[in-house]
Amino acid sequence: MALEQLAPAGFWWREQVDDGVWVAFTSRSAGNLALHVNDDPEAVHSRRKALEAALGLVHEPLRFMNQVHSAHVGTARPSEPTEGPDGLDALVAPAGDVPLAVMVADCLPVVFAAKTPRGYATAVAHAGRRGLLDGILANTVKRLEAAGGSRLQAWIGPSICGRCYEVPEAMMEEAGAIMPELKARTSWGTPALDLPAGAEGQLASLGVRATRVAGCTLEEPELFSYRGDKGTGRFAGLVWKDV
Ligand SMILES: [Zn+2]
Repeated sequence: MALEQLAPAGFWWREQVDDGVWVAFTSRSAGNLALHVNDDPEAVHSRRKALEAALGLVHEPLRFMNQVHSAHVGTARPSEPTEGPDGLDALVAPAGDVPLAVMVADCLPVVFAAKTPRGYATAVAHAGRRGLLDGILANTVKRLEAAGGSRLQAWIGPSICGRCYEVPEAMMEEAGAIMPELKARTSWGTPALDLPAGAEGQLASLGVRATRVAGCTLEEPELFSYRGDKGTGRFAGLVWKDV
């Protein structure tokens, strides 16, 4: 996969990953896409509209989640409200006909596509330390399979990397006891967590083929980082289908 290819303005990475199925991660140049970070709501809505235009979405707007670091998965169908509890950290479109978005700034955005007998099912998941340990990715995979999905593929987007995500020793040990791939060391030698490695390990154990999209949010100025600036915005992981 050509990670080095030049992404259009507003995108960190954007690619047609299967027949008519697209995956993208926005960059700082698409602006903040979150309504919960004290930004002007009108400005956020107009950025979301601009993003939808850039993706060529005509029928359905992007579906965002009210993310709460849970392991809850909702369902998205065209012209219907999202099905599931108010706080969600993953969203599945069983027929792939609703464009999906997950917002992040250090946490891990994971985007999915799966073949179904009638086409594709798609999903997005927000995997921070808590959600990852509580099984948000496993729950999302289960829902894709329940929708008839097979040959699942996942794209692990940019997040804070294992060399930057410093945590207390006890937290690293607790997380590592559940998911050994999470244990890491910062570049300055202190305990850390490697979220992409944890996600990759879990997806492999679930039989999902995962592609890692490079980029550390703390090191890369083109991405938003909460650890870098507590008042920062959010970029997004996206999956949509050509209509
Ligand atoms: Zn880093």
